[in-house]
Amino acid sequence: MYAKHFASFESIDDLDEIFASKQPQTSNLKLQTLVLGGGSNILFTKNVDGLVLKNEIKGIEMIREDADHMYVKAGAGENWHSFVLYCLKNNYAGVENLALIPGNVGASPMQNIGAYGIEIKDVFHSLEAFDMDEMKTVLFDKEACSFGYRESVFKNKYKGRFIITSVTYKLSKKPLFNTSYGAIEAELEKMKVPALSIQAIAQAVINIRSSKLPDPKQIGNAGSFFKNPEIENSQFEKLKNDFPNIIGYKLENGNVKLAAGWMIERCGWKGYRKGDAGCHEKQALVLVNYGNAKGSDIYDLSSEILDSVYKKFGVQLEREVNIV
Ligand SMILES: Cc1cc2nc3c(=O)[nH]c(=O)nc-3n(C[C@H](O)[C@H](O)[C@H](O)COP(=O)(O)OP(=O)(O)OC[C@H]3O[C@@H](n4cnc5c(N)ncnc54)[C@H](O)[C@@H]3O)c2cc1C
Repeated sequence: MYAKHFASFESIDDLDEIFASKQPQTSNLKLQTLVLGGGSNILFTKNVDGLVLKNEIKGIEMIREDADHMYVKAGAGENWHSFVLYCLKNNYAGVENLALIPGNVGASPMQNIGAYGIEIKDVFHSLEAFDMDEMKTVLFDKEACSFGYRESVFKNKYKGRFIITSVTYKLSKKPLFNTSYGAIEAELEKMKVPALSIQAIAQAVINIRSSKLPDPKQIGNAGSFFKNPEIENSQFEKLKNDFPNIIGYKLENGNVKLAAGWMIERCGWKGYRKGDAGCHEKQALVLVNYGNAKGSDIYDLSSEILDSVYKKFGVQLEREVNIV
């Protein structure tokens, strides 16, 4: 895949320069601008007929503290897992369950990254973003980000308008351990940790993730390709009549979140391979590229999966991955 223009930026000054109207070759590029973080959640199906901007803003600093919290500001171009390691080293609690999620800090609010019972919104304080419409930097607090499940204002209303340049997280001095989700407790037992700590939880999460998710460096993938869909409880009860083992979690609003992976597996996709495009053998939610599949091959496979899940369960899945 190719981009017509490419630039990287290390500061807001760089962005001012890139977007300055006196540079005719880059003016009017707002609508065709794609911000690239680590690239772990984008599927390119075609060349980019515009500007790709690679975020390289670095730096992590503790900017404030109060009795219970540390406020840590990280440059959007910092690697997410390196940021988690920084927090673990300094005993700042809150992001340990989010260890080993690929990508950069700047993308973490985009889809409100989440794993093992924690979402970024739980530790989010504010972010700074460059407004490509107004050519100025804007501060967003938590409310302004409208976080939802794998959602934020930046994926919807403001899609393509803001470049997130830094994120400030509100981390706890006294940890609130969250081990109830998934296999964390079983893994901690296996690890025989003498005392529970945020470092032990992060290690448990790293062990579990490494054992069940394909490493993108070895086999191309973007993590979960689809979101877990939310349906009304009445529809869930009907589905349970036909599929007694269907997996669903009751939400506070009374709806039910279904496990998309379970439905995809029941449609027979797990381990499926067509050419170099496939559905991972251990995790049906993850689509993989065994080598030479094109972005459009992966996209077509995802469409087939969407169709078959809809036919069998009457549930419309939604892609989590950003399609270009
Ligand atoms: C193996 C694997 C496991 C994963 N597990 C999880 C998981 O457990 N939970 C989870 O939530 N996600 C998971 N993901 C998805 C991915 O890690 C996250 O979405 C991550 O936040 C993407 O970061 P990135 O820097 O690679 O973003 P990119 O892929 O570069 O970009 C993603 C989107 O955000 C936009 N964007 C990126 N940076 C900025 C910025 N600074 N300003 C404005 N827009 C920006 C891009 O234009 C694009 O639309 C996983 C992915 C993989 C490959």
